[in-house]
Amino acid sequence: MSDQKILEGKVAIVTGASRGIGRAIAEEIGAQGASVVVNYFSSEDAAAEVVGGIEARGSQAFAIQADVGNFDAVQSMIKKTLDTYGQIDILVNNAGTTRDTLLLMMKEEDWDVVIDTNLKSMFNCCKAVARPMIRRKQGGRIINISSVSGLVGQGGQTNYAASKAGIIGFTKSLAKELGSRQITVNAIAPGFFPTALTEVLSQDMVDKALEFIPLSRLGELEEVAHLATFLASDKASYITGEVIRIDGGLAM
Ligand code: NAP
Repeated sequence: MSDQKILEGKVAIVTGASRGIGRAIAEEIGAQGASVVVNYFSSEDAAAEVVGGIEARGSQAFAIQADVGNFDAVQSMIKKTLDTYGQIDILVNNAGTTRDTLLLMMKEEDWDVVIDTNLKSMFNCCKAVARPMIRRKQGGRIINISSVSGLVGQGGQTNYAASKAGIIGFTKSLAKELGSRQITVNAIAPGFFPTALTEVLSQDMVDKALEFIPLSRLGELEEVAHLATFLASDKASYITGEVIRIDGGLAM
């Protein structure tokens, strides 16, 4: 194995990078030599810890608070990134949330928060980075985190599944728009990973899920981080508009 870092010289933004999957992706992208913008919503200390970890391994990073569902906040985050690093090569749209409940019980706010955070964020972040990426003429990588819920649906998650299915249509459409500029746009659809998002599930629900996972285990955060890092690298230059499940076979 070569020790060469595959993202040396690149600049990446990872949304929702203070915890869970986003944190693992930010750390791995940083370990591969990229400068990383660590976006967070409320976990300031955790985001600072992620930055410290990336810097300790020799890459640059800074943390920035922004609600990805807020158009103006995202514009400011992208401006700060360009002011600091002068370029953006990689955008990982990872920030996401749930407000699980049956449709009959779902409040309008449960719908709006999930759609804004998970789906409107795609519009906000991609629109803000597309122009600087195009202007730079060096291609680019956009990686959107969807979910198997967006592929197969899940009772109690009409809002979440709609947002995650929306990400898939968005990803394929944007891949067609940006392809001629060598900017690839792909989606990752994770199954079950141990994070704050899934820790609310009862052991009974996890056991039931495990029955349907051919690999008989939950995913490890490093596994999705490695996939995202591959998609972010030059090695994935001919993959675009793809939705890659990483779910131990759950939704095959
Ligand atoms: P998590 O542990 O709950 O972390 C969520 C992250 O998103 C946190 O960093 C949080 O920031 C950030 N965030 C939430 N709302 C935000 C907002 N409005 N603006 C900016 N950042 C915001 O969740 P996770 O499990 O790692 O999930 C990450 C992504 O993977 C999500 O898109 C999720 O839907 C998807 N996914 C996860 C699983 C799974 O099994 N875990 C499965 C399928 C898909 P703060 O900490 O600052 O609040």
